[in-house]
Amino acid sequence: MDIMSNSTLLTAPDTYIGIYNELSKYNVHLNIFERLWASWYAYMQNDVLATGILSFVMHEAVYFGRSIPWIIIDAIPYFNKYKIQGQKIPTAREQWACTKLVLLSHFTVELPQIWLFHPMAKACGMDTGVPFPAWTTMALQIAIFFVIEDTWHYWAHRLFHWGPLYKNVHKIHHQYSAPFGLAAEYASPIETMVLGAGTVVVPIVWALCTKNFHVLTMYLWITCRLFQAIDAHSGYEFPWSLHHFLPFWAGAEHHDVHHEKFIGNYASSFRWWDYIMDTESGPEAAKARREKAQKKAAKKAQ
Ligand SMILES: [Zn+2]
Ligand SMILES: [Zn+2]
Repeated sequence: MDIMSNSTLLTAPDTYIGIYNELSKYNVHLNIFERLWASWYAYMQNDVLATGILSFVMHEAVYFGRSIPWIIIDAIPYFNKYKIQGQKIPTAREQWACTKLVLLSHFTVELPQIWLFHPMAKACGMDTGVPFPAWTTMALQIAIFFVIEDTWHYWAHRLFHWGPLYKNVHKIHHQYSAPFGLAAEYASPIETMVLGAGTVVVPIVWALCTKNFHVLTMYLWITCRLFQAIDAHSGYEFPWSLHHFLPFWAGAEHHDVHHEKFIGNYASSFRWWDYIMDTESGPEAAKARREKAQKKAAKKAQ
């Protein structure tokens, strides 16, 4: 027997924890998250699979992890006073029907795309190694993505409200006139792909252009974007909701009216596009629009 290979066999750890401990010995400059990350790729020995599993698990964990608190809040009568359309609390049956379609879409539409992600990310020059980029770099990139995605979302979503597209594609998402967190991704696969492009394609183009992009930033961005989408569908408006502190932030108050009235408030994260294009929804916006028209008419009459 070859002693060398035998000794390698004995010392090379084959468990995740073993690899982590071994890697930590020689990489003291890496922080705990970087070590966990590098050990995962070393353990898997297959980068496509490593990224694929990580992406899918992360998406499911964040999607349901963020939706479950809203399901619990729906079940607690105390919070009813904060529900925007207070009379419409989703039933358990509605929530379950929604979960089934969302899961079906995750496994049939999103899973194959997630699987293609690693080869595509590599081809675009995305970094999957350690160390991670500085948090300031990641925060800046995520802020830029929020602004670009919101623009894409505004125009694509507005287009989806055009008769034929609405009837054949977007109508599914509007099944719930009083939305709840889980309904964020309740949509036709076509819609998931077109609107999802704003979330996925923007970082890819960014990576291609700058050659300065880490997959971790992608994960953090998608996590932020999922939080935004689920919270916007929660149906709850609190005195501590983010838009009270950031007036240009859309939040649930903005998107809930869209589901209730089926018109206006097309943007995802911010209020500026609806403001500039005069597509704000709700009684206040309608009142402002009426007053503006009256003023215009009065001016003309003078
Ligand atoms: Zn819509
Ligand atoms: Zn919606």
